[in-house]
Amino acid sequence: MKELANTLNDKLQNLKISEILMYFSNEYPEQVVFTTSMGAEDQVLTSKIAKTDKSIKIVTLDTGRLFQETYELIQRTESKFNIKINIIFPNNSSVEKMVNVKGVNLFYDSIENRKLCCNIRKIEPLKRALEGNKVWINGLRRDQSTTRNNINLVEFDEVTNVLKVNPLYNWTNEMVWEYIKNEKVPYNPLHDKNYPSIGCQPCTSTVEHGKDIRSGRWWWENPETRECGLHKR
Ligand code: SF4
Repeated sequence: MKELANTLNDKLQNLKISEILMYFSNEYPEQVVFTTSMGAEDQVLTSKIAKTDKSIKIVTLDTGRLFQETYELIQRTESKFNIKINIIFPNNSSVEKMVNVKGVNLFYDSIENRKLCCNIRKIEPLKRALEGNKVWINGLRRDQSTTRNNINLVEFDEVTNVLKVNPLYNWTNEMVWEYIKNEKVPYNPLHDKNYPSIGCQPCTSTVEHGKDIRSGRWWWENPETRECGLHKR
């Protein structure tokens, strides 16, 4: 699979995003899933998928700690593109056990606790979202953070055992917003209030202009640890 990923990475480099999506949709029918966090990049891809091929499954993970604005955006996006966004929840008994033992805001106490929470609320549900699929579409970009600066268009994800496709890997932030404005793509209003990257409400803060756009995520940690584990590198 790793060799296949490298071959596809070279082969598909110069295609348009719509062509890349169609390629995987044709090669792996019913086995392509796009996971959206409802962030700006993911909204671009939702728009592209809605225009290209609605057979690609669209999934979002509801951690139970999202901003109200994110829930409203899910509704607006479904309505705008006439699509269904499938919502995956964490295992309720795992969440109950975690918060009853460690507290509802355990993530501020240690990196270990924060990772436990991300594991229960995001990683385990992601595994269920990817079950039965061969291709995982993502909205990652190289210049989002120091942890993402070497991603490629197609990679093999050894953790989840699927082909991971990052169609926006070489897009800039400006390109994302130009597309959103030109195509009138719905987006989270928090982006206009200095939240360039939006995740769970207790783990997301505003970011000063010019700083790493993911620096508001788990802002109390070192930059190297600021990933939830969905995208292991
Ligand atoms: S981002 Fe925060 S609230 Fe969300 S799953 Fe991770 S630790 Fe838990």
